[in-house]
Amino acid sequence: MNLSKMRLAIVGAGPAGIYAADMMIKAERDFDVEIDLFDQLPAPYGLVRYGVSPDHPRIKGIIKALREVLDRTDRGNDSDASAEGAGSQGPHGSVHYYGNVRYGEHITLEDLKRHYHAVIFSTGAIRDAQLSIPGIDAEASYGAADFVSWFDGHPDVPREWPLEAKQVAVIGNGNVALDVSRMLIKHAEDLLPTEIPDNVHRVLDQNPIEELHLFGRRGPQYVKFTPLELRELGEVRDVDMVIDERDFDLDDPYVTETLMSNKQIIVISRIMNQWREAQKLRESGEVAPASRRLHLHFWSKPVEVVTENGRVAGIKIERTAPDGQGGIIDTGEFEVIPVQSLYRAIGYFGSPLEEIPFDDVRGVIPNEQGRVQSADGSQMQGVYATGWIKRGPVGLIGHTKSDAMETIECLLEDRSKLWQPSEPESAAIPELLRSRNVPFTTVEGWHRLDEHELSLGEAAGRERIKVVSREEMTKVSLGE
Ligand code: NAP
Repeated sequence: MNLSKMRLAIVGAGPAGIYAADMMIKAERDFDVEIDLFDQLPAPYGLVRYGVSPDHPRIKGIIKALREVLDRTDRGNDSDASAEGAGSQGPHGSVHYYGNVRYGEHITLEDLKRHYHAVIFSTGAIRDAQLSIPGIDAEASYGAADFVSWFDGHPDVPREWPLEAKQVAVIGNGNVALDVSRMLIKHAEDLLPTEIPDNVHRVLDQNPIEELHLFGRRGPQYVKFTPLELRELGEVRDVDMVIDERDFDLDDPYVTETLMSNKQIIVISRIMNQWREAQKLRESGEVAPASRRLHLHFWSKPVEVVTENGRVAGIKIERTAPDGQGGIIDTGEFEVIPVQSLYRAIGYFGSPLEEIPFDDVRGVIPNEQGRVQSADGSQMQGVYATGWIKRGPVGLIGHTKSDAMETIECLLEDRSKLWQPSEPESAAIPELLRSRNVPFTTVEGWHRLDEHELSLGEAAGRERIKVVSREEMTKVSLGE
């Protein structure tokens, strides 16, 4: 097949999908490309808008670069052409965003085959991984992903969150556990300058929390935290970091021989040592205690959620010890820490998509370098994946770029064996969506919503106030 124009659908307009669109536009090729980016939400940016904490404006700043890609509509592309060396002189590239469009419901695989040469799925991982211990389904036991969606104002989750516990457990030693802990332990007034939605601020302002217990099943040198984020936790106002010295006494050759040559781990150890010193000062009475405490528990494997009348009443952990090779052994020593609510932050998990193969164990679309594989291991024609749904929920946002590059390279290599669409006209998509009564949003609509949120913020002396309801987001986007 000799292509003069490729029509590409990308499902999922988070960083993974937008980076893939950008790579495709910038790739060396001799044909024009029209990219339609679909998202089930009215606004783009996926986890940057609905996963990054509101008090992380630096990371949210990635939106600026992502927006430039979305702005490459036909009009934008022509006027921008000189900047990219594209336009009338070379192959042309354009991007169209269609929000409020759910794959499998509003648009199907059959539709995509009719209108495009290929599809890339970049739907990410937005669910919580399961923790199979007794009591985990008790009332007041939550998944971190649900809490993050709530505090980031995701339109599809309830507006209220029951924050009633004075003692709270967070399980996991990754950056999501840090985000959840920080949002729970911070005083709400310190979050006011951020883009935190009003309903979230109101609830956090009534948070009675006094103690937060953060559990890692391995030792302090095995954490998945990044140093910047860990340091930030210790800088939260009016919170004491409480350390159990027993956790630092264990003899572990794997730490001395392997981990302590890792720069990141060295910095993390330094941060924790500063907290240990601060704790000594507090114990000697030289420094007044804060009103909230954050206890770090290492070598603590959760084995049961203790319940009373169906509600969380404690967390039972088993002390673990290093096996000398980076793993743990159980010690048979148990402790129960009283808590009235619990958050598991042990990783995200992808969701299956209609008519697309899914690996139930890893929570990803089975693929080889982004080429989606059918159940028999053969390549599924025209279907690709990128981002967390391709490789699993690990890595920072920037890591998604190399992932997108790999997928795009494979797609370009396969250009002679893609789908052959019977209706490749770009106008056919808005027509199809209208005929199905889908209130789809566009990049112009996103600009309207963006400006609306900024003006709401300005009126209140804040940077932005997020619109939370899907109906309102859609109305503002559609200019109604
Ligand atoms: P993660 O980094 O993979 O951390 C998961 C944590 O859960 C690990 O400490 C893991 O312990 C623990 N865990 C897993 N299964 C467990 C079990 N059954 N019992 C007890 N603990 C268990 O995942 P994440 O925190 O969800 O983050 C995902 C990615 O997003 C990461 O790359 C992260 O850096 C990134 N992120 C970045 C930021 C930022 O601000 N820069 C914010 C959020 C997320 P083991 O190590 O022992 O397996």
